[in-house]
Amino acid sequence: KVVIKNLKKSFGDLEVLKDINLEVCEREVICIIGASGSGKSTLLRCINALEDASSGTVEVDGHDITGAHADINKYRQDIGMVFQQFNLFPHMTVLQNISFAPISLKLKTKEEAQAKAHELLKRVDLEEKANVYPEQLSGGQQQRVAIARALAMEPDVMLFDEPTSALDPEMVGEVLAVMKKLANEGMTMIVVTHEMGFAKEVADRVIFIDEGYIVEQGPPSEIFGNPKNERTINFLNKVL
Ligand code: ATP
Ligand code: MG
Repeated sequence: KVVIKNLKKSFGDLEVLKDINLEVCEREVICIIGASGSGKSTLLRCINALEDASSGTVEVDGHDITGAHADINKYRQDIGMVFQQFNLFPHMTVLQNISFAPISLKLKTKEEAQAKAHELLKRVDLEEKANVYPEQLSGGQQQRVAIARALAMEPDVMLFDEPTSALDPEMVGEVLAVMKKLANEGMTMIVVTHEMGFAKEVADRVIFIDEGYIVEQGPPSEIFGNPKNERTINFLNKVL
């Protein structure tokens, strides 16, 4: 469970997040939508402490990751993150990419980590690619490996920042299908996306962010079918 209270984040004079309050329950799937520059990526980056909050708190499973005494590395292990750019290690095979973190952090033996990696490759439908290098994969395949790599840490929450934005259109579906499967299996997910179809179908709750505030939120049927805020309506008119 993630609890965000009065989160503010500025870069110099630029106030990006102005007062974000958000609770994400276990097994909940949240999609975050909003215009470019509205603070979506910054919010995700505050949730896994890639950015320090200027003020406010971010609790993950009851632990404040913004506190001075927070063991950020430990909590970050419980949070999986998938980026727009897949960021796989180019000099490692797919199997090594997936098993690297659990082995180097001594969370698993090499044998355990590799067995888990094979199981994850099956889940993302890439069993036959264990021993190839990232450059030998399509963008969609690389992103599915990136998802498997994040899952190898057995996270409590998965964060996705526009995971399909860098993909050729024909590869978007295979990545969204993996994400949908994860959601159906009960993974807690926070997904920044421009894929409104995915948000409609998979999200339990859609959050619209505008100029650093959560302006409107609700079930997809409400946000897409009956948006109330003028800014939400304007945004949806542009993207739908
Ligand atoms: P997009 O849809 O284009 O990805 P976004 O909603 O993810 O946009 P953010 O990346 O969170 O937006 O950026 C919000 C604002 O914060 C932007 O004006 C951006 O230029 C600024 N910003 C983000 N990171 C930094 C940084 N490290 N230093 C200074 N400004 C930053
Ligand atoms: Mg962004």
